[in-house]
Amino acid sequence: MAKAIVKSKKDGSLIVISGPSSAGKSTIRSELLKMHKELYYSISMTTREPRVGEQDGIDYFFVSKEEFEKRIEKGAFLEYAQVHRDHYYGTPKDIILDKLNKGIDVILEIEIHGAVQVNDQMPNAIFIFIMPPDMETLVKRLKKRGTETKEKMIERIKTAYQEINEASTYNYVVVNDELDSAVKKVDSIIISEKCRVDRIDAIELDNKEEILHDLLMDKE
Ligand code: 5GP
Repeated sequence: MAKAIVKSKKDGSLIVISGPSSAGKSTIRSELLKMHKELYYSISMTTREPRVGEQDGIDYFFVSKEEFEKRIEKGAFLEYAQVHRDHYYGTPKDIILDKLNKGIDVILEIEIHGAVQVNDQMPNAIFIFIMPPDMETLVKRLKKRGTETKEKMIERIKTAYQEINEASTYNYVVVNDELDSAVKKVDSIIISEKCRVDRIDAIELDNKEEILHDLLMDKE
C-alpha cells in the first residue's frame, strides 16, 4: 500500500453543544448519533429529578446533592455547574479523557458556564451554540414540551436570555429553524473541523520521485 502523506492526530475531537432550553439541542444530538455510530455521547450527572420517561444511565445519572458534592471534592468532573439556580449538572471526567485518548469523538451537551470551564482546559474543543429562530418559537416549544411548571418555564426563559448573550463566545452558531438543515449544519461543522491544519500530526513526503516516474511509464 502506498504511504499516506497526511498523518492525522490520533485523539478524538471534543464537540460541545450549548443553547437555551428547547432550542433543540437534544434532538440535533440524537440525529447526529444516528448518523455517526462511533460518536460517544457523554451522559451527564445531575441532582435534578428525572422527568417522565427519563431513565437513569441513559438520559442522565441521577444522584443526590450529597453524592454530587462528594464527586466534586474528588475532582471527578471535567466541568460542573448549578443550573437554573437549583440543581447541579456535571460531566464525568475519566470516561471522556479515555474516549478521546482512544481516538473516539465525544459530544457534550452542556450549558454555558460548563462550556467556559471546558474551554479553559481544552481550547481545541469545538463549541457550537444552537440558537432558536426567535424567542416566541422558544416559548412555544417549551410550552409544547410540557415538562416544566410555569415558574420553571419563566426561569428557563430568563436563563435563555443570558445564554443567548454569550453565543458570540462560541466557535459556531447554528439557528435551529428547521431540524434537517440544523443537523446538516452541525454535521458539516464536525466534518470540516477534521480537516483543520491543527488536526494534522505530520505531512510526510518520501521524495521517491522515481516511483512516480515508474507509475507514469506504466511500470509496476
Ligand atoms: P435539562 O434539565 O433541561 O435536562 O438541562 C438543563 C440544562 O443543563 C441544559 O442547558 C443542559 O444542556 C445543561 N446540562 C446538561 N448536562 C450538563 C452538564 O453535564 N454540565 C453542564 N454544565 N450543563 C449541563
